[in-house]
Formats: sequence, C-alpha cells, structure tokens
Amino acid sequence: MSPTASPYAGRFAPSPTGPLHAGSLVAALASWLDARAHGGRWLVRIEDVDTPRCVPGATETILAQLAACGLVPDEAPLRQSDRGGLYQAALDALQRAGRAYPCGCSRKDIELFWAAQGRPVDRHADAVYPGTCRDGLQGKAARAWRLRCGAPGKPLVIDWTDRRLGAQRQDVKHAVGDFVLKRADGLWAYQLAVVVDDAAQGITHIVRGEDLADSTARQIHLQQALGLPRPVYLHTPLVMAADGEKLSKQTGAQAVATGDALAALQGATAVLGFGLEASAPSVPTLLACAVAAWRQRWGADLSRSAPGTPAPPAD
Ligand code: GLU
Repeated sequence: MSPTASPYAGRFAPSPTGPLHAGSLVAALASWLDARAHGGRWLVRIEDVDTPRCVPGATETILAQLAACGLVPDEAPLRQSDRGGLYQAALDALQRAGRAYPCGCSRKDIELFWAAQGRPVDRHADAVYPGTCRDGLQGKAARAWRLRCGAPGKPLVIDWTDRRLGAQRQDVKHAVGDFVLKRADGLWAYQLAVVVDDAAQGITHIVRGEDLADSTARQIHLQQALGLPRPVYLHTPLVMAADGEKLSKQTGAQAVATGDALAALQGATAVLGFGLEASAPSVPTLLACAVAAWRQRWGADLSRSAPGTPAPPAD
C-alpha cells in the first residue's frame, strides 16, 4: 500500500543503543500500521543524542531488521546527531521568552535539598527538581538548562487523552519539576529533541511504547511553550520479561532475527491484541492482514483522532 496525500505523519524513533527486540518491534509495527491504516507517511528517526549510550552499528542493524520485517520508511531516516542547530534555536527561543533558565545543581545538591526536607530521594528514582536556580544561579556555575514548569507555588496540570489508555493527567511540577532541556554534559535532553523533531517533521500521530506515556505531559508542556501543535498519542502495551520487568536492551532482550521476521511480527501482532499466526504465511501477507485488523480495532478512532493546532503558551 503506498502512502497518499493524507496529512497523517507517524514515526518510529529508536535510540541506537542496541538491536531491535520484541518490545521495540511492537512500537515499530504499531506506528507503521497506524500510518498505513490512515493512508499516511511513516518515518524513522534515529534518536542518537545520548551518545554515551549509543552502540556503533546499531542504527544499521535496526534499519536492516525493520526492512526484513517489511517496515520501510517513506523518507530517508533522520539522525538527531545532525540536528543540534534546531535544538539550540528552540532553547534560545525559550530562553528569550524567560521560560528556560540555567541550573547549577548537581544530583547530589538536589538529594541534599530533599534530605533536608525530610523526604530523601529513592535511589532508583529521578529526583523532582525543587526549582533552586529558578531565580538565579546563587553563585554556582551553570551546568544544565531547565524549563520552567508553572508559576511559583502553583501546580502545572497537563490533561491529555491517549487513544488506548484514555484520559491522562499529570501535575508536571509535582511529578518532575522544572525538567532538563540541555544536560550538564552538554548533550541535548530527549524531551527537547523529541518535541522539536516531531514538530519539524510534521508528525501528527505518535504511536510508541507505554513506558513513554509518563513523558507525554512534559512534552505537551514543551510544545505549548514553543507554540507547537500537539500530536495525537497512542501508547502500546509493553512486552514483559520473565521476571516481570519491561523487556529492554538493558535486561538482555534477544534481538529480532532478520531471518525469522515472520515469527517476530506474529509475536508483535499478538501483543497488539490480534494474533495472526494462522492466517499469515509470509511477511507481506501478515502486514496486509495486520493493517486490516488495525483498521477494525481502531476504525472509529481513525476519523476522530485529528491532531491539535498550536496551543497558546501556558505557564
Ligand atoms: N528514542 C526513544 C526510545 O527509544 C523513543 C522516543 C519516542 O518514541 O518518543 O525509547
């Protein structure tokens, strides 16, 4: 099926930290199916801003794995490592608008702050930023850049609707605080890069794993701060490892074998709720059946899920 003039644009945005595994294949397949079911474009963006975590050769491996699964992007993939100028322009705009500010706090400083409040930070959790440098660096050297989230003393509640998970709400100030746009090591933060690129590429629909649902309120706040449109969101089920943890490269997930793409795709369709084991003797047949199944599953939703228009800047 070829893409049409539909305004729909979707994407799969892997970080090249290792090969595609059963969990990331679900997100790739779901985003491709949604694009095809809408008659829209499907893009691949390589999210390689976190350079210390990138693995040499992983980009090529992922693209080869996608191709073996019949998931071929409609345009040449972009790499975030080529796009620093765009992220800098966005940070400059936020800074000029008084929305971004430099921060001199280390993780230790933030932990000490919360310990002094009698609320020590869980070792495995990201500490909520208490806003220490909001009104100035207090003599410290600038390390990172952060986005202001809400007026002093006020929450920043973001409401959004996920096509699968339904109504969602997060008080970003309470959950994460003013979050990082540019890191202390000089690297661009995922939240900024993803929001800038989704808008620059005209992405209307984001289909990705449920582990990223928690980032969505932050991304919406950033879209509002930059005057960018809000895409439509669908977060897909995660594949769990035997120990109940999310399947990930870190937990040693098996790479999708290019020689066994059909079985891998069958597994992914089962996770998405419409296993096609019996009816699909080949990758192209399976994909065609899966597009039909996706249309049936999300049919009513396809016409309802029109993307938003740029929102006025909020606090
Ligand atoms: N690069 C992110 C990841 O691999 C996905 C980002 C996104 O889909 O928004 O987890």
